[in-house]
Amino acid sequence: MYISSTPDAITKMTQMGDVTLYEPAGEQPHSERPATSTTTSRQHRREPQTRYQSQSLAECISNVATPSGAKPILKTMLTTACERNCNYCPFRAGRGQTKRFTLTPDELAKGFDQLQRARLVDGLFLSSGIIKGSIATQDKLIDTIEIIRQRYRYRGFIHLKIMPGAQYDQVKRAMKLADRISVNLEGATHQRLEQLAPKKNWTTELLQMLLWTEQIRQENPGQKLARAVTQFVVGAVGDTDLELLSTSERLFNQLHLARVYFSGFGPVMHTPFENLPATDPQREFRLYQASFLLRDYGWNIEEMPFAQSGNMRLDIDPKKAWAEETLLHHPIEVMTADRQQLLRVPGIGPVSADAIISARRQTTLRDLAALRRLGVRAPEQSAPYILLDGHAPDRQMKLF
Ligand code: SF4
Repeated sequence: MYISSTPDAITKMTQMGDVTLYEPAGEQPHSERPATSTTTSRQHRREPQTRYQSQSLAECISNVATPSGAKPILKTMLTTACERNCNYCPFRAGRGQTKRFTLTPDELAKGFDQLQRARLVDGLFLSSGIIKGSIATQDKLIDTIEIIRQRYRYRGFIHLKIMPGAQYDQVKRAMKLADRISVNLEGATHQRLEQLAPKKNWTTELLQMLLWTEQIRQENPGQKLARAVTQFVVGAVGDTDLELLSTSERLFNQLHLARVYFSGFGPVMHTPFENLPATDPQREFRLYQASFLLRDYGWNIEEMPFAQSGNMRLDIDPKKAWAEETLLHHPIEVMTADRQQLLRVPGIGPVSADAIISARRQTTLRDLAALRRLGVRAPEQSAPYILLDGHAPDRQMKLF
């Protein structure tokens, strides 16, 4: 597709590309990948990374699941320069191997508009390194989105990063302009963040902004405001699943975050963490599964199957690990269990739990085929942990 003007902006964006590899933007972070890539971002991070700047526009566009469906999203930054020194980051101050590019808000907005009109992208994830302080950088990010919304009248999906230490009014403006905003805590605790990012303050620069997102929501009922998300860097500094999920639970319950992203650490050459091992991608995956149990299934942190190390098993999903310990010898009677109990059974989710409760008012559920008809996709997975009308289900029976 021929792009008629602002070649400099497009060229700069083209070279920024993979910069947001570590920053998922949508509903299915594990499936996010640049349009040209056949591997997921999770697979991408298994190897130590030496190259962070892309060479084609397609590398800057990821297939992202947004609330209104899957879309090709441009993931880019206003600048790859940064005055901070996060130990894991390719853009940290002083890392000579990183090419530094900076776009003005006008340039970036115009470039995005052209790509969007050419139907190459439908959505934007916008981040930035920090130059001249967080507040000045956040102003530029907000200016960019204002231009996109007002001058170019773009109404589609925008996910905007909030810089550490931004101001209340900036957070509020960002929530009005964007569909999602990210305030990345990076570490599950103040101490973990100190190890990861010595120049960031967990409480005053990061958590405070998440508190503001909830305050702003409460002060502006009925207004369309972006929901907040956060992200943790997993596995670089000894953080445990217990720490990560305990903080996640508080964020879901108290601040109503839409999502917590877990980004498995991958070493970056020429950073202080270059010799640390990469985090097993399976750990990231299990953390997502556990976080959905906390967010959508009514679980609490005390129920999670942590080992003494504070971590979960990698070989089976947390719901099944819990069921193996708890339900195998004390199966749940599907005809009488309440919704919370049904949601503890592997294979039964919120929709099928509701369907079961509704159906059993009319009929007796006696076999796995009945569960399948109610939307339990793999009832044989549930079979070891349930009773149907007082009996263990026959796992050999034909389902049709
Ligand atoms: S603030 Fe830290 S994580 Fe963000 S770009 Fe700068 S060095 Fe990287």
